[in-house]
Amino acid sequence: MKGRSIFTQAVHAGERMAHPDCTPVVTPIYHSIGYLYKDMRNLDMVLAGEKEGYVYARYGNPTTRAWEVAMAMLEGADDAVAFASGMAAIHAACLVAGARAGATLVAAQDLYGATYNLLARFLSTLGVRTHFLDVTNLAAVDEALEELRPAALLCEVISNPLLKLVDLPALCELSHQHGAQVIADSTFTTPYLLRPLEHGADYVVHSATKYLAGHDDVLGGVVVGSRDRMKGVRELLKAIGSNLGPNEAYLALRGLKTFPLRMRQHCSNAAQVAAWLETQPGIERVYYPGLRSHPQHELAQRLFSDKGYGGMAAFEIRGGNQEKVFCFFEALRLVLSATTLGDVYSLVLYPAHSSHRSMTPAEREQAHIGPGLVRLSVGIEDAQDIIADLEQALQVVK
Ligand SMILES: *Cc1c(COP(=O)(O)O)cnc(C)c1O
Repeated sequence: MKGRSIFTQAVHAGERMAHPDCTPVVTPIYHSIGYLYKDMRNLDMVLAGEKEGYVYARYGNPTTRAWEVAMAMLEGADDAVAFASGMAAIHAACLVAGARAGATLVAAQDLYGATYNLLARFLSTLGVRTHFLDVTNLAAVDEALEELRPAALLCEVISNPLLKLVDLPALCELSHQHGAQVIADSTFTTPYLLRPLEHGADYVVHSATKYLAGHDDVLGGVVVGSRDRMKGVRELLKAIGSNLGPNEAYLALRGLKTFPLRMRQHCSNAAQVAAWLETQPGIERVYYPGLRSHPQHELAQRLFSDKGYGGMAAFEIRGGNQEKVFCFFEALRLVLSATTLGDVYSLVLYPAHSSHRSMTPAEREQAHIGPGLVRLSVGIEDAQDIIADLEQALQVVK
């Protein structure tokens, strides 16, 4: 660059400094949109899909690719495609699994609110019909699959906020008998507890925003599955452009390194907190799959084979109402009240005024989202500190 104009130097100086003898330990954040090829035939092969490589950021990015490769590995899958959010990943999985005009989907009635909206309010206007039902009722699922012949069934392995479980192997078998593909949202379970593909699921989707990244600092999503299905997902991603950016991919990849350690602590803490909550006179009911009192505790044992029962719990404050719950939240000193989950921090959320706000009180009652119900995402702090904070806040409410 010596001897060239400052305009030219400003554009090129310092760039493309190759290090032929060494490799950085950590995947760098590649912001480059375009890529250079010495041999144009290589570029031609990459463009033809005959060779792996990078051409343009929407087609692929090395930092994002590193996160995809890691996720495919953790899920025991051929491949994974990263998205800018969990919702973008769910949207893509639905489209590739056959959500098109005239098609029907079957979905769990207690899906994550935004997923419910995507299906009920948006895909419906494009001619995709979704039938919502209780996916824990296998007889009802069988009947719906027989009658509706849906392209796909969409469910969450653990539901939000009441922690109901689906019998994923049975659900996958039924779906496949009727020619429907299964999309499993495994955000709450994560590959630490279960790998849905091993139970027959065709697509696994995650909000990486939650446990996988885990630090409340990155929005991301991923779809995982077979090579063929992921090829379709990537083609769609190229067309819609809801890509996970390199900074986000870096944070997600960084988070993933401690994810099993965090999950182990989340599970252990949640089990202790749930057991303690159950002994409290001020608590009416505790929802946690690891408790013997959970109606599907045996199914949880079978699905998670003793690795734990996740970090999510819910409980009802005795005689609780909005005023009491607000008072409880404001009295908490360690546990944070924030609208997310799966973070290192312990978090509470009030479903009646957030995730389930758009329902009428009668609808909420029918869905068992009572006015005293609190959702708790147990963090990785010390369990005794979390319990002490909940205890002092419950004293204030009393
Ligand atoms: C958060 C969440 C989503 C949506 O993910 P975003 O990253 O917020 O788009 C989908 N499903 C479940 C179960 C979630 O918890």
